[in-house]
Amino acid sequence: MLHKVSRSFTVVIQQLDDELKDPVCIFYLVLRGLDSVEDDMTFPLENKLPLLRCFYEKLEQPGWNIENVGDSPDYRDLMADFDRVIPAYQALKPEYRAVISDITKRMGAGMAEFAELGAKLGKGSVVSVEKYNLYCHYVAGLVGIGLSQLFSASGLEAPEVAKQEKLANSMGLFLQKTNIIRDYLEDQDQERTWWPQEIWGQYADTLDWFGKHPDSPKSLACLNHMVTDALAHLPDCVAYLSMLKSPTIFEFCAVPQVMALATLAKVYNNLAVFRGVVKIRKGFSCEMMLNCNDMDMVHYYFNSLSAEFLAKTPAADLAKSTVGAVALKNIETAMRLTQEGSDRVRKRSNYKFIVPVVTGVLAAAVAYYAVSARGPKA
Ligand code: CA
Repeated sequence: MLHKVSRSFTVVIQQLDDELKDPVCIFYLVLRGLDSVEDDMTFPLENKLPLLRCFYEKLEQPGWNIENVGDSPDYRDLMADFDRVIPAYQALKPEYRAVISDITKRMGAGMAEFAELGAKLGKGSVVSVEKYNLYCHYVAGLVGIGLSQLFSASGLEAPEVAKQEKLANSMGLFLQKTNIIRDYLEDQDQERTWWPQEIWGQYADTLDWFGKHPDSPKSLACLNHMVTDALAHLPDCVAYLSMLKSPTIFEFCAVPQVMALATLAKVYNNLAVFRGVVKIRKGFSCEMMLNCNDMDMVHYYFNSLSAEFLAKTPAADLAKSTVGAVALKNIETAMRLTQEGSDRVRKRSNYKFIVPVVTGVLAAAVAYYAVSARGPKA
């Protein structure tokens, strides 16, 4: 069932230790179910809100499923066959079940809060940056927090990892905000908007204005403001990854973060975001995925990707505007935090990157990133 719902996630899960495969897989399927309820815009609100809020209780009801809910055929199948997910959840250790149930409860309540707000305010229902952070916390930060609790519960990571909720939250926010920025056009087309008015309102009267004026300096300034906001989470991501001890968990967590920064570096100062889908090169995705296996390599990628921002806009130009100065500070902080490990990689006597060639494994890797470049966005 997992394979059908997400081919990309099936590949990623296989890399985890056996102990974590089932809990992480069930966690993913349950949250995917919740997300299918949230994203189905044809599902009447009077039914949607209670289902979001009590979805965690369905995990305790053997045989429960629901027909015709979900925004794609595969997700509707997942919901119609949800009675097959429940026994798999029930078979997990109690400590894993507790985490999955608690996160599903909190995420469902948060999604319901924003669905209600969306119905009241219509497009542009995310007004303040504070609310934007809160929405991203519900749909992505909680995933980071839940995963950390699963990691610690497995014994593969120290109990401390589960306690660093602010860092885990930032890991989720960094990924979610990157997707929200990149998917501006797609979300506009689907009548879902997540860019906060507190930011876009400084550049235009309506959020769809940027798509209608894809060449305007105001559109570019707004985009760069959104990217600057996302970059502020980078130091927490570096700190979170530094805590991890298990090589498999490390890769599971690090690869999406490096991909996200590569995406942000690509969309930054790039008006193509307002015209179509912006993707990072598949060759780079594969290279990064194969090499991103220790903290020094993460430093190396974070450091060189941060430098790409400065290559697009010189520091002296950034310093001229208020938002640019914040961007510069964020970029310089990221570069300082990652300088040491990055230098070590550059000095390695056997400094060689595994360069992708087309083999069976790599073809799978390419296919994986071709799918995940569009991301599963919560
Ligand atoms: Ca969603």
